[in-house]
Amino acid sequence: APILHLPGPYATWHRPLTLNGLLTLREQYPEGKIVVGNTEIGIEMKYGRKTYPIFIAATHIPELNHMEVDADGLTVGAAVTLTRLMRTLKQLVADMPKHQTRTFQAMGEQMKYFAGNQIRNTASVGGNICNASPISDLNPIYMSTGSVFTVQGEGTGVRKIAAKDFFVSYRKVDMQPHEVLLNVHIPFTKQHDFVREYKQAHRRDDDIAIANAGMRVRMEMATDGEWKVAEAEMALGGVAPKTIMAPLTMDLLQGRVWNKETLHAGIASLAQDVYINSQSPGGMVEFRRAMAASFFFRFFMHVAFELD
Ligand code: FAD
Repeated sequence: APILHLPGPYATWHRPLTLNGLLTLREQYPEGKIVVGNTEIGIEMKYGRKTYPIFIAATHIPELNHMEVDADGLTVGAAVTLTRLMRTLKQLVADMPKHQTRTFQAMGEQMKYFAGNQIRNTASVGGNICNASPISDLNPIYMSTGSVFTVQGEGTGVRKIAAKDFFVSYRKVDMQPHEVLLNVHIPFTKQHDFVREYKQAHRRDDDIAIANAGMRVRMEMATDGEWKVAEAEMALGGVAPKTIMAPLTMDLLQGRVWNKETLHAGIASLAQDVYINSQSPGGMVEFRRAMAASFFFRFFMHVAFELD
């Protein structure tokens, strides 16, 4: 298969046109850097003084640029730009029943505050995931909505990994050096699923988060006529070296009525889920812990209004 190959004094640039070509190069050059929008790598090189001798551009692989709706949700190729994703989400929200697209709606609203147009026009969905930043604005939503990542490596085939298990430690993901991220599958929501995403940054536009969160509950009407929590998933960014789930609060919410006691118990429990050491990088420990409580308060109110 044709491959654009540009050797240079500091780095060599490879741009394969097929998935097989990409996987072969990935296998051949384990030290090679896959690049799509270069909005992370560029920063690492300019400000982190990192050098990469080999780049493998994944921008032109059809499978990685593909988006598809199936019976369960939306599959988004890893090289799809954030601008294209936003457009598709907006279209699906307009065309489909409201209860199925609550995740897409939450993502679409949040992505207005993801960087700015210039970055969104070139930055990719996969670059954001593989970079594994603890303040990625999309990873909390994937983790709290049952999204699944598909990776592939030459000779080892395709693997599917739940988003909530993908982030291993600070900027480390469950992917081998010869593997690439192919796509992410974001499931449709069901009746009485409520999803929100929150971000707190210094500025509204073009700024990275101090803390962020993705939250989802599925409510059901119990026999006693009360709405109760059937499922709860909560992911928080900016409060640990990686995006984390809040397992204590998720357990606590199970089966609860959506009332003031639940709000208070949830806030108390999040303080247990979120432990930030006073020496932790980024500082603002009290503020970031308070953000977790504040996001939950906003989510509580959102669900309460929707149920009303
Ligand atoms: P690249 O820089 O091309 O790659 C990033 C990493 O992912 C590299 O390590 C690369 O090797 C790897 N990679 C890429 N694709 C694959 C693949 N298919 N398989 C395996 N590895 C792969 N992020 C936020 O979350 N929220 C923000 O608000 C935000 N604002 C920003 C503002 C500015 C001004 C800048 C410069 C960046 C901002 N970012 C933000 C971070 C960044 O833009 C995003 O994470 C973006 O989605 C990265 O995509 P990219 O295609 O540019 O990645």
